[in-house]
Order: sequence, then structure tokens, then C-alpha cells
Amino acid sequence: MTEAACPLCSSHVDEELGRTEVWRDDHWRLSMARRGWTLGFSYLEPIRHIPFLADLDGDESATFGPAIARASRVLREVTGARLVHAYVFGGGVAHLHVHLAPNVPEGVLSTALISGDVEVEQLPSGAGRITSRDHPEIPGERLDAVIDQVREAMARG
Ligand SMILES: [Zn+2]
Repeated sequence: MTEAACPLCSSHVDEELGRTEVWRDDHWRLSMARRGWTLGFSYLEPIRHIPFLADLDGDESATFGPAIARASRVLREVTGARLVHAYVFGGGVAHLHVHLAPNVPEGVLSTALISGDVEVEQLPSGAGRITSRDHPEIPGERLDAVIDQVREAMARG
């Protein structure tokens, strides 16, 4: 998708999607849904056309942390949410956008890490181990191969 064909690079996108911009700096902007089911649902997007998280570079890469921390902190304070969930799917519009969803007590958010029926085993540390009842587990050797490849690639920088 080119910048010219990108809906998030269009100046009309907020109007079309029923969003309103609440903040921007030189690299990022934050807009909020004006209707929906989640109080404070917001979108953090780079102003420059950057398709996916894996394409993040330059000044946007350097400023992503402060921008998402600031937006999440403000959303938490204003909505009273204990947590602000961040979702990046990337399957729809090819312009990076982080969905920021305050999880308020009366909210309707799904907090499932995987789809379908799951079992959560509480571990001694307090963490939970999730087991799917609907999907077959990926063989350990395949997971290990990907783990090794990622470890090697991350070490290369
Ligand atoms: Zn774009």
C-alpha cells in the first residue's frame, strides 16, 4: 500500500471513522473513538507512513516508547482503568496503528491471549500458563527452531 492509497494518511480518516485527534507532535498522533464500546479507546499512529511494527525506524523508532507511555498513562488517569491494553494487529490497514484500550470495570474487552476455550493454570510465581482446548499445540521442536533463529538474529542486531 502506498502513502497515496493509505486511508490513515488521508486527512479525512478521523471523520470517516468517527474519531477525533487529541494530541500530536512531530512524529505521532493520538486519536480517540467518538463511539463504540470501550471508554477511552484510542489509536496511536505515526504521522509518517510506516506500514508495520517491523518497519518502524528513524525518529519514530526512537520516540515510540515515550509516546505510547505518555498516551497510556493519560488514558489510565482519565478513565480510571487499572490497565491499558495495546493491540497491534496489522491485518487491516497497512499503516502502523496501536489500539489503546483502557480496561475499565464496566468494559467489554476480551483479554484472551489466544482465541477459543482455554484453561489457565496458576503457577507458584503467580503467572498463568494458558492451555487451549480448541487448538492443537505446536510441536516443541518447531518452537525451539524459531526460538534459536530469533536468538541468533537478535544477537546480530
Ligand atoms: Zn499511511
